[in-house]
Amino acid sequence: MKIYKKIIPSQYVLSIFDIDYDKLLKQGIKALFFDLDNTIIPYDINVIGPKEQELLEKLSENFKVLVISNSRKKRVKTATSNLKNIGYVKFAKKPLKFGFKKGIKLLNVKKDQVCVIGDQLMTDILGANRTKIKETILVKPVKQRTDHILTRNNRKLENIFIRKVAKKYPEKYNEVLKSYAESK
Ligand SMILES: [Mg+2]
Repeated sequence: MKIYKKIIPSQYVLSIFDIDYDKLLKQGIKALFFDLDNTIIPYDINVIGPKEQELLEKLSENFKVLVISNSRKKRVKTATSNLKNIGYVKFAKKPLKFGFKKGIKLLNVKKDQVCVIGDQLMTDILGANRTKIKETILVKPVKQRTDHILTRNNRKLENIFIRKVAKKYPEKYNEVLKSYAESK
């Protein structure tokens, strides 16, 4: 598979609150891997808020739920400290496969039972597709302006990749990436 194709998510939604989780269940998804920064909370918030906590804990009744982040331990540990029954993988080095594999092992699931949810094509989606995880959902960043310098570079790269996808896989582009690209 060409690298450009690997940044194409299964779907794009506005936020973690807009995902059809029942549909995922019916598809056979057993585990949800959530990115932390700008997927659940913005960079400048330290702890996951009550609304997000409620959603994640409700989901943990039907799914195995994991937070998977490239951030350091302190950030991830503090952010998830209120969550019950929800573990995390910190310093996941996405888009490397390492963190995803760790999560799969930790939750004792198969690749085709996992759905990865994240705001970055170049880390979350690319990494998940490289790991051959079945379902990948791109969300709109919670707060775009707080992006880190590294993330800003990823966003530039992302734009280049999106243009390649538009050219090489126009159908896929129209289906899942067009509305995201136009929202940037
Ligand atoms: Mg993120």
